[in-house]
Amino acid sequence: MRNTISIKRFIVGCFVPLLFLSVGVAYADKYTKQRQQMIAAIQDDVQDTAKQINKNSLSQAVMHTMMTVPRHEFVPESQLDAAYENRPLPIGYGQTISQPYIVALMTDLLQPRPDQRVLEIGTGSGYQAAILSKLVAQVYSIEIIEPLGKASTQRLTRLGYDNIETRIADGYDGWPQHAPYDGIIVTAAISHIPPPLVKQLKNGGRMVIPVGTRFQTQYLTLVEKDNNGAISTRQILPVIFVPFTGGH
Ligand code: SAH
Repeated sequence: MRNTISIKRFIVGCFVPLLFLSVGVAYADKYTKQRQQMIAAIQDDVQDTAKQINKNSLSQAVMHTMMTVPRHEFVPESQLDAAYENRPLPIGYGQTISQPYIVALMTDLLQPRPDQRVLEIGTGSGYQAAILSKLVAQVYSIEIIEPLGKASTQRLTRLGYDNIETRIADGYDGWPQHAPYDGIIVTAAISHIPPPLVKQLKNGGRMVIPVGTRFQTQYLTLVEKDNNGAISTRQILPVIFVPFTGGH
C-alpha cells in the first residue's frame, strides 16, 4: 500500500509540473494557484479510480481546459472561497455545480473533438458547457429551472462563450432541431436512458449519463452508438447526482 501511494505521488509529482509547464501560463489570475491545486486533486482522483475508468490520466486537452476555465465565475459569491475545491458546490434551487473531477471525467469520456456538436442536459451554472465549448465546435444546453437557465445564459455571454446555445425546457426530449449530436452529456441522474436522446445521437456518437435514482446506486454510464446504429452501454463509476426532474 505504502509503495502504491509513493509511486502514485511520484507519477502525480512528475505529471502535474509538466502539465503546468504547458498550460500554467495560459490563464494567469489570482486563482491560478488554486486552479493548479484543483488539477492536482483531479489527477489524484484519476489515480485512485484508475482501475474503474481504465486509464491513468485524462486527455491533455481536457486537463488544459480545466486549467483555463475560470470556475470561480460559475459559483455563487458565498462559495467563492471554495470555487476550486474538488467537490460539488450549491448553486441555488437545490442544484449543484458538479465536482471538478467528475466534470473532467465526463468530458474525457465524450472524447470531444474540434469539429463536433454536443448536447448537454442540465446547464446549471454553465460550467460544464463552458468546458465543452473550448473543446468542440458547438454546444447546445438545456436547463429546466428558468432562473438558473437565465443566469447561466447571461454569464456565458458575459464571459464571451459564443458557441453555446441555451434553452429553458425539459431536456428529456432532447433538442431535435439541432440533432443528430456527436456527443450528449446529461448532468442529472435518471432511472433510465431517455429514448429521445438515444435517437438524437449520431452513429459513432457517445453519451455520458448518470443512471439511477436517489435511492439506488447511480452509475456514470457511457452509451456508445456504433456506425451501424447499434447501442452498447458500460457502467463506469458509482456517482451521486441531483435528480433529473420534469414530466417523463
Ligand atoms: N452541468 C451543470 C450541473 C448542474 S446540476 C453545471 O456545470 O453546473 C444538474 C442540472 O440539471 C440542474 O440545474 C437541474 O435543474 C437540471 N435538470 C434536472 N432535470 C432536468 C431536465 N429534465 N431538463 C433539463 N435540465 C434538468
